[in-house]
Amino acid sequence: MRRPFLAGNWKMNLDRRSALDLVNQVRAAADRRADVDVAVFPSYVYLDEVARALAGSRVRLGAQDMCHEDSGAFTGAVSAARLTPVGCESDSLGHPARRHGFGARAQLVGAKVRKALEAGIDPILCVGETIEEREDGRTEEVVKRQLVAGLASVSAAEMSKVTIAYEPVWAIGTGLTATSEQAGAVHDYLRGVLAGLFDEAVANATRIQYGGSVKPSNVSELMAVDSIDGALVGGASLDGDSFTAIIEFQN
Ligand code: PEP
Repeated sequence: MRRPFLAGNWKMNLDRRSALDLVNQVRAAADRRADVDVAVFPSYVYLDEVARALAGSRVRLGAQDMCHEDSGAFTGAVSAARLTPVGCESDSLGHPARRHGFGARAQLVGAKVRKALEAGIDPILCVGETIEEREDGRTEEVVKRQLVAGLASVSAAEMSKVTIAYEPVWAIGTGLTATSEQAGAVHDYLRGVLAGLFDEAVANATRIQYGGSVKPSNVSELMAVDSIDGALVGGASLDGDSFTAIIEFQN
């Protein structure tokens, strides 16, 4: 049985005050919904304060990306060694915004997954195709390549720490959502790839989130699909009422 996992990716949004207000609402919602896991991914600069606001709550704290090295001349980068002391327990890696906006290659994402695990940070490995790749019939090829490279140095035992997020690029921040059939088909495919890389037990135990314009009005339909174990939510996680409604989805 895989526990639903709902995560809010705040991207480069929210100022300090609104981040702290939002976190109080998320905390209250997570307290009411003990059967799901909840996490928020604020900007680096607010991680410390958000961690303090979350102290003693069920909400986990994550960062948006990290460096593949521990320290050194990496101007503008943040390493796992800087994230764990401020209470960061998770990290989204290979988000389409990083792959396509900042050129993060699949092998580099794999190196970050390795670093996160070594630091005790649970990675969310994001994979997903562009609209051109989908229209060319290359969705499976693309997500498989990203998944295999992202998990290249991960052992079966370490997979209990890893979440996969299927994030079709064409559905992120666009208002377009993959239908539950489209998302379910890719999730099933990814689970099959996991079974090949590891074994059936690992494949069945690994949580695969869907991300791409998830909102209160579509979360229940998506979550009703067997192979969808949660959501990575961007826009709709920025508003306390809407993220609360997502956390409290009907099942
Ligand atoms: C995301 O940021 O990962 C995301 C899925 O964004 P949105 O929900 O806004 O599409």
